[in-house]
Amino acid sequence: MLDKLLIKNAQWIISLDDEGNRYQNADLLIEGNVIKAIGKNLEVEYDTQVIDATGKVVIPGMVNTHHHFYQTLTRAIPSTQEIELFDWLTQLYEIWRELDEESVYFGSLVAMGELLKTGCTTSTDHHYVFPRGKSTELIDVQIKAAKELGMRFHPTRGSMSLSKKDGGLPPDDVVQTEEEILEDSERLIKLYHDPNPYAMCRIALAPCSPFSVTGRLMEETVVLARKYGVICHTHLAETKDEENFCLEKFGMRPFEYMKSLGWSGEDIWFAHSIHLTDDEIKEIGETRSGVAHCPVSNLKLSSGIARIKDLVDAGARVGLAVDGSASNDSSNMWAELKTAYLLQKYTLGQKGLSAEETLRMACRGGAEVLGRTDIGYLAPGMAADMVLIDFTDIAFAGAQHDPVAAIVTCGDSQVVDTTIVNGKVVVRDGKLLAFNEDFIATNANRVSARMVAAAAKRTGIDYLKSN
Ligand SMILES: [Zn+2]
Repeated sequence: MLDKLLIKNAQWIISLDDEGNRYQNADLLIEGNVIKAIGKNLEVEYDTQVIDATGKVVIPGMVNTHHHFYQTLTRAIPSTQEIELFDWLTQLYEIWRELDEESVYFGSLVAMGELLKTGCTTSTDHHYVFPRGKSTELIDVQIKAAKELGMRFHPTRGSMSLSKKDGGLPPDDVVQTEEEILEDSERLIKLYHDPNPYAMCRIALAPCSPFSVTGRLMEETVVLARKYGVICHTHLAETKDEENFCLEKFGMRPFEYMKSLGWSGEDIWFAHSIHLTDDEIKEIGETRSGVAHCPVSNLKLSSGIARIKDLVDAGARVGLAVDGSASNDSSNMWAELKTAYLLQKYTLGQKGLSAEETLRMACRGGAEVLGRTDIGYLAPGMAADMVLIDFTDIAFAGAQHDPVAAIVTCGDSQVVDTTIVNGKVVVRDGKLLAFNEDFIATNANRVSARMVAAAAKRTGIDYLKSN
């Protein structure tokens, strides 16, 4: 018999369905991992568990479309605070060389823990650092962490194959050969990829960027992905440095280069997509390629402001993302939601995205980017992924007129009350249920300190000194 859970008497249920229905003082019934019904005074059987949602706003769980979990361990490092992407990467590669199974495990728990506590129920991750001589089963460890926390997870098999000696940016001992990468990509797909509805784990393939992999690997990766029906991801048009690199090395702009390698279409999504021409935006839209918008990271690294409204209007699939926590220093989806809304207002005035359009991008947009039709909005038959926000909190006092505008523009209490993934409560009263949070934080701090100390000893760089 399926477990039944009733969310009773929510002040608002923001469905984000096709009609944009908002239900006031309503119930939502979950059976197993699926939403069964939404309505007033739903009748339930004797064995139904009930969550009293009086004073709560229920929204669909947000979908994070780009991240590097391991970077939670290298947040707020003084020597990397005031520099742009290429210099920032060059410094951090040296610390990331110290990654192993233990650090990836705790980094993943921190990142996903923070995401679950800030309204996100599905996340992808882009892990591309596989230091030579260490375990290569780092994505297996991330999948274990996601399972333990109860998060819906789309890990991408990241990769770097173009090191310094071949004209790339990363050092030689954090890149792998093309054969190693393709073999492991296939292994992960066979072992973990679940194409079925309500899947908790799907694999995607993700060569890191034009400046850290070879063109051949890009081409072969997308061929392999299409053979297995999985989707592909990479960084694109993040900085002017990247644009100059592509023009000098390949004689093409970044998107032109990716297109020449078979990288556009409904099974592709790009992180950032900031430095694009009008024609490129049109083409990304026409090919229905996807974009992961990472507003806070783009501001922190001074990369620029993506033309999100233009991409949406052109037909691109656009989701929201926190990006690596070293580049924005947090894995907080609320911060991205609010920043995305404000940035489009800043660049386009009142023609920017509305609060509801921004929330829709964070939920349904993200689902579309990941190729899912079973998550992103609340309706019977959809996966039971949702978030309950305490609307009686002082942060929402005086803001009861429009729950969506309130959630996007107010709400300094950024921790949600309850998070439900696949029908299971994973955050209650703002706390993770699967772990004692002190256990995660203490271990993450320990492995973070160890990595920074080891890198400092090896390189002679004082990472604790501001640059
Ligand atoms: Zn990234």
